Amino acid sequence: MNEAKAFAHTIGGRAVAGVGWFDVIDPSTGSVFAQAPDATRGQLDLAVRVAREAFGKWRMLAHSERVAALQSFAARVRAEIEGLSRLLTREQGKPITSAQREVRATADRIDGLAVLEVKPEILREDASGRVLLDYQPLGVVGAIAPWNAPLILATQIAAQALVAGNTVIVKPSPFTPLTTLRLGEIAAETLPAGVFNVVSGGNALGQWMTEHPGIDKIGFVGSTVTGKKVMASAANSTLKRVSLELGGNDPAIVLDDVDVDAIAARLFWSAFVNSGQICMAVKRVFAHESVAERLIDALAGKARQVKVGSGFEPDVELGPLQNQPQYEKVLAILQDARERGARFVTGGSALPRPGYFIAPTIVAGVAEGTRLVDEEQFGPVLPVLTFKTIEEVVRRANATRYGLAASLFTRNQHVVREFLRRVECGMAHINHGTASQAHVPFGGVKDSGQGAFSIGPTVKDAFTNIKTIYVKT
Ligand code: NAD
Repeated sequence: MNEAKAFAHTIGGRAVAGVGWFDVIDPSTGSVFAQAPDATRGQLDLAVRVAREAFGKWRMLAHSERVAALQSFAARVRAEIEGLSRLLTREQGKPITSAQREVRATADRIDGLAVLEVKPEILREDASGRVLLDYQPLGVVGAIAPWNAPLILATQIAAQALVAGNTVIVKPSPFTPLTTLRLGEIAAETLPAGVFNVVSGGNALGQWMTEHPGIDKIGFVGSTVTGKKVMASAANSTLKRVSLELGGNDPAIVLDDVDVDAIAARLFWSAFVNSGQICMAVKRVFAHESVAERLIDALAGKARQVKVGSGFEPDVELGPLQNQPQYEKVLAILQDARERGARFVTGGSALPRPGYFIAPTIVAGVAEGTRLVDEEQFGPVLPVLTFKTIEEVVRRANATRYGLAASLFTRNQHVVREFLRRVECGMAHINHGTASQAHVPFGGVKDSGQGAFSIGPTVKDAFTNIKTIYVKT
């Protein structure tokens, strides 16, 4: 099926046709199946202009009016779950059940965020007067998203920005533009014109957004390398504000007092969900030397059982890597591990079929100094390292520029306290699989990001300016 040129930008509540186009590839076949419009600078300027105009009215609406509009948007997303999920599986590769979960969660997050009211606070009050802290929307927010969970990540930025009274311009990844373009059409039917705009294009479009003087803030989710460019460019243009949700190399530490068979499935899925293409997927397991072999066996058992295939095949649990550069990067990381004497307990290579499939891989016999351990692999490949003491393992867990999430499996409360005090991360999981919930801040430290903004109570920090007001009575 070729869906050539069936998609358009949404600018000012209208479909705006592409001038140029780029190919969109189905990662389960490696073949082009659609084209997406490639926005020009002129189209971005138009989106900024209409978003600015719409901001004037949207910011003046009562919170309840913005909430009502966002809830009807969420309801329409929910009504379109089948079509959106199929498109998401087609362009992203994830199993259809995962795509359905992402679309449902997207609608839920829009609904959930809609109840967050940003109200002024009284800081001081006495006979002589009052001091208030008011929160004002920033203006036009640019939302730049990656390809691993395109719909929910773009929407989280956008919905938070919108509920606080901003308007948005969303730019999906060029690898997965289509579901977000479709979301733009739905937004045009449910939100006031110009409030939610979607423009698709390549990396250059992202850079134009960061440089654009008419955009007040960039909400960015993507790699650390790009996040640093976004920050530099935003500072060079108009000192625009940025929130950055970036990469991770998340450690999971397993002590010798846990039942490894009982936690193996939780740990496996924390690493392999979305074929490992999740920022906060577990990317390094540190197992105490006395339980390491048992844990490796248990993880390998899961890896052998799991069904890999096209997201549309029945019962598939893991799809392909999303794109060719990522597929080649993971294969190069495997080759590096092989050359350094790693033991592939399962997998270790591509699957012999079209598309970007790599067999679920459990790796033993590796240590720091191997790319698989030092870098963010972002694929279905998990190294299991061993350790002797908790002091040693926390130091090794922290020995990375990343600091997104970190997990600990133990019953020892003293160790839990030590770990929580010393581990360098934005989110810690204790005997818990990786998690992300509405109304709970999500974000990293060090090179994993700045300014948790994805969900809930961070809306004020991320999407408003404070205004201090002195009133004399
Ligand atoms: P990426 O950085 O390559 O691209 C992300 C987005 O930035 C895309 O839309 C891209 O077109 C755009 N872009 C590229 N160059 C740009 C520039 N110079 N200026 C502005 N925009 C530019 O990331 P990716 O490969 O799409 O996504 C995978 C990465 O995202 C991984 O590192 C993953 O860990 C990270 N991620 C982080 C989170 C989080 O919440 N922390 C969530 C999901 C993914």
